[in-house]
Amino acid sequence: MSSSQKYVGRLAPSPTGLLHLGHAATFWIAHQRAKAHHGTLLLRNEDLDPQRSKQEFVDAMLEDLAWLGIEWRPPMAVQSARLALYREAFDRLLAGGFVYPCSCSRRDLAQMVAAPHEDTDDEPVYSGKCRPTTSVAHAFEEGMNYRFRVPDSEAIRFTDGNMGEQCFTAGIDFGDFLVWRKDGLPSYQLACVVDDAAMRITEAVRGADLLKSTARQLLLQCALSLPSVAYFHTQLLRDEHGVRLAKRHDALAIRTLRERGMTPAQVMAMFAT
Ligand code: GLU
Repeated sequence: MSSSQKYVGRLAPSPTGLLHLGHAATFWIAHQRAKAHHGTLLLRNEDLDPQRSKQEFVDAMLEDLAWLGIEWRPPMAVQSARLALYREAFDRLLAGGFVYPCSCSRRDLAQMVAAPHEDTDDEPVYSGKCRPTTSVAHAFEEGMNYRFRVPDSEAIRFTDGNMGEQCFTAGIDFGDFLVWRKDGLPSYQLACVVDDAAMRITEAVRGADLLKSTARQLLLQCALSLPSVAYFHTQLLRDEHGVRLAKRHDALAIRTLRERGMTPAQVMAMFAT
């Protein structure tokens, strides 16, 4: 971010479950950083998973954010209402020969399993089965998945505002990743870079589970000639067994803590220590 540029941050929850302590910690940091920079914090509802996104979770998230005292500037951006924007970017990737159609089945992909010790939801490295030998422009075909062709062996480096120097090797740490899904929707990676640019985000504060996604998103930004964003990844909170807090940890949902009579200050104290 240049010194003349105003800080714009964002909260980007997926409404697929109740917000838990891990979200509260990340969102609180995002809120504090926007405040410290006299900037703006925007809210983006990342509702591109039609099976799992639910209005009740959007309502709960708005209520929980307000209860925690995390302020953001309206209006809320809703990804399902911005499909034309993603499609336009995807068409540019197609025309530029950056993506190719992939007809691998779920079963094919299930065989490319991630290392079992990896405590992450990250997509497995793609085997390259459908990857053409050269990068060529493809015509759009409905009902097809499309993958971004990563520059094999290239080191993707960035300096994270919280975690310092990062380096991921394309083709090893992550492979050709999904950008467009056969159900007619963009992948998280594509929607995220398009929106971060359209919303003029200067810094993305998010959980460290997305560090590798940042490497993918840098490649997409470059292919689409989009401005770069600064990143600040927060440490993941773990439960007493060392397992990453996810939405299945209902006991640590903000909602549950609040119903147990905790105050916002007591909830904050749980992750501040
Ligand atoms: N929607 C994503 C999530 O809830 C966060 C994406 C981001 O901050 O880039 O995990």
